[in-house]
Amino acid sequence: AKADGRGVFRFYERGMNKRLQRRRALEAELRSANLDEQFHLVFQPIIDLGMNKVTAFEALLRWTHPTLGPIPPDEFISIAEDTGAIVPLGEWVLRQVCLETKRLPDDISIAANLSPMQFKRDDIVSTVARLLEETETEAHRLELEITETLLLEDNRKLHADLRRLRKLGSRISLDDFGTGYSSLSYLQKFAFDKVKIDRLFIKDITKSADQAAIVQTILNLSYTLGMTTVVEGVETEEQLRIIRAMGGSEAQGNLFSKPIRSEEIAEFLAEHKRK
Ligand code: C2E
Ligand code: CA
Ligand code: CA
Ligand code: CA
Repeated sequence: AKADGRGVFRFYERGMNKRLQRRRALEAELRSANLDEQFHLVFQPIIDLGMNKVTAFEALLRWTHPTLGPIPPDEFISIAEDTGAIVPLGEWVLRQVCLETKRLPDDISIAANLSPMQFKRDDIVSTVARLLEETETEAHRLELEITETLLLEDNRKLHADLRRLRKLGSRISLDDFGTGYSSLSYLQKFAFDKVKIDRLFIKDITKSADQAAIVQTILNLSYTLGMTTVVEGVETEEQLRIIRAMGGSEAQGNLFSKPIRSEEIAEFLAEHKRK
């Protein structure tokens, strides 16, 4: 293509078309996909730093399309949210998570990510209650992660929904804390059980005094408000050492393990115990 304005524009336009085409294709695929065939969950351990013990796994959704191959969650989740496909997909995730808890020791729970759309387009509380009953799962084995973006909207209903979910016996975590339009007042206003500190703040924690100060502040505040913290995205021993020194209670990240398949969990737990 020529480097004049028109050439650049056409190239850009073609690029847009391609992206839009892929998006349209994924929208259609999401509507018709056989969930059991194309989707699976992977699980990433969350470690209690005091006891050096696995307390939970976070379930992360994976989509392998028969011809397009693996589609990144950051791409397909937002499409599923826009089209409403996230409601059946999110329910599928919750059911798989409940079933998976049965393959784990009693003292290990699983955290599922909930999309704001599941609160808006579905009665999430009755869905969770029904799934727990159907799968005969104790509510405390299921943790629910929600992001801050959710807190901005429709406050009263959300507040009530979160209270009802906790009443069922599930714990609620505030995910990706510190990103988006976060406000410290959320921590006080909504009674969360856990706060997950986004890995953005951990990335340069060994080099940046500012980042270290932010993490320390969130840890202190959470402790004061009686919440557990999970530090996300821990990749190095040095990061872990700092987080421990700061009094972090739980951590998650590739240092401990990348997300693994259900079949790999037993071996991971046995291996981790020996360390
Ligand atoms: P998230 O909930 O913040 O999940 C953590 C993400 O960080 C995961 O990306 C995980 O693989 C990645 N991660 C964990 N440890 C490390 C690390 O040490 N280093 C780095 N660089 N990355 C790490 P993943 O699996 O690609 O998921 C991306 C996002 O997609 C999730 O972010 C979550 O917002 C969304 N998502 C995934 N599964 C579901 C689901 O079932 N439902 C909904 N609504 N959203 C989901
Ligand atoms: Ca999460
Ligand atoms: Ca997160
Ligand atoms: Ca995230």
